[in-house]
Amino acid sequence: MSWCPNCYTEYMDSKKMCSDCKVELQNEIEIEIERYEFVEMDYVYTAASDIEANMFTELFETNGIQTMKKYREAGGYLSVYMGETSFGIDLFVDKEKRSLAIEILKPLELESIEEDTKTEKSSSWLKKIFIIFCVILFLLL
Ligand SMILES: [Zn+2]
Repeated sequence: MSWCPNCYTEYMDSKKMCSDCKVELQNEIEIEIERYEFVEMDYVYTAASDIEANMFTELFETNGIQTMKKYREAGGYLSVYMGETSFGIDLFVDKEKRSLAIEILKPLELESIEEDTKTEKSSSWLKKIFIIFCVILFLLL
């Protein structure tokens, strides 16, 4: 299936030009990339783990917000070995829908901030234990 990059009309594969716009048709994938590049992305949140990043990405995407994950330095490498990254994963969303993304995040973020202040002392220990546990699990498998 081909698409007109100008009016987004769908054409059969045999067609090469859009009959309305007189422009060359493109395949679906190429148009998706062009649209993606056109969208201005803005930073919204830093996820602590891959699981969290995926959870928010899914949450945003189901609300029609285009989301992009950006691993911090060495994060991608670490996540392969430990299932999490200590560097965090920055989430970027469609600039125009950033306020909507924040509305979705707000109740969730407040909860985690409250929790952090209470368990601040033990959280670093828990993290260490969790990493050790992951390493043991990795070795057993
Ligand atoms: Zn057209």
